Amino acid sequence: MKRRNFVKLGLAGAAVSVMKPSMAAQLSEKQHNHEMGTGAPVVVSTWSHGMAANASAWKVIESKGHALDAVEQGVMVTEMDIANRSVGIGGRPDRDGHVTLDACIMDEESRCGAVACLEGIDHPISVARKVMEETPHVMLVGSGARDFALEHGFGQTKTPIKEVKKDWKKWKKEQKEMVKKPEINHENHDTVGMLALDAKGRLSGSCTTSGWAYKIPGRVGDSPIIGAGLFVDGHVGAACATGMGEAVIRIAGSHTVVELMRQGLSPQQACEAAVERIIQKHKDLTGLQVGFLALNLEGEVGAYSVYSGFNYALKSNVRDELIDANYDREWD
Ligand code: ASP
Repeated sequence: MKRRNFVKLGLAGAAVSVMKPSMAAQLSEKQHNHEMGTGAPVVVSTWSHGMAANASAWKVIESKGHALDAVEQGVMVTEMDIANRSVGIGGRPDRDGHVTLDACIMDEESRCGAVACLEGIDHPISVARKVMEETPHVMLVGSGARDFALEHGFGQTKTPIKEVKKDWKKWKKEQKEMVKKPEINHENHDTVGMLALDAKGRLSGSCTTSGWAYKIPGRVGDSPIIGAGLFVDGHVGAACATGMGEAVIRIAGSHTVVELMRQGLSPQQACEAAVERIIQKHKDLTGLQVGFLALNLEGEVGAYSVYSGFNYALKSNVRDELIDANYDREWD
């Protein structure tokens, strides 16, 4: 049966209507992975850059550290990778050539922090954590976020880096008129979102990105928005999103996934239901890729995307792999 036809949302109906295929998916997942669902520690993160990020996060988990430290240290690896064009200092700029970074972090006690439109600072995720720990606020943006980072001793980096600037100049030349809707495709986005369950059963999540390449200046996507790009409920589970942030914000995506898990859906079912909601809300799905990744307190993992191509990295005591997520449709 086509996913679209059987997932009819309405909260009461959701648990029943999505049960069959996802239960099967979950069972086969469990069959080849005995530890999932036992509450054993696990780290998951979006896309292939998640492999290196997970390796760093796992060091924290292995030494019985806090999931919050794991998700911070994990994505810092991606932020510092200058070959990465969608996260951190190697990221692509907005339409006017400014690399503006977005990030957020959240722990099992619903403490959270975020920064948006942050320019020229090495580790947005750590600035987000500082906002969480040292201010009464949740989010700082733009020059305020930058001043706060500098006051707290964060390193500065000149962005865009040389190669990225060259690409941007070429792109700019090719544009015939002011770009209203830059194209979103495989090359110009891919946030790293990470979720971790530690040995003490604590959940945390992080999300960091340079956002939609060549975006309109000032644009902020889902990634730094608690409830959209990331959400954690220490009694239920955690979720993060990647892809076209505008679509994720419209359904408060990660919060939706966690709420569906609270109502009894598995992480896989919840991700599928959230993707289905996005599909229902958008008449034109051209180029509208969104992927959700979720983890519950039992250590069960789910992932699902609108289009094919979304993958995630999983690290546990016995696994270290990149997994292709299931999806609703192939790219046209
Ligand atoms: N969600 C990010 C944004 O909209 C981009 C991505 O994940 O691909 O900024």
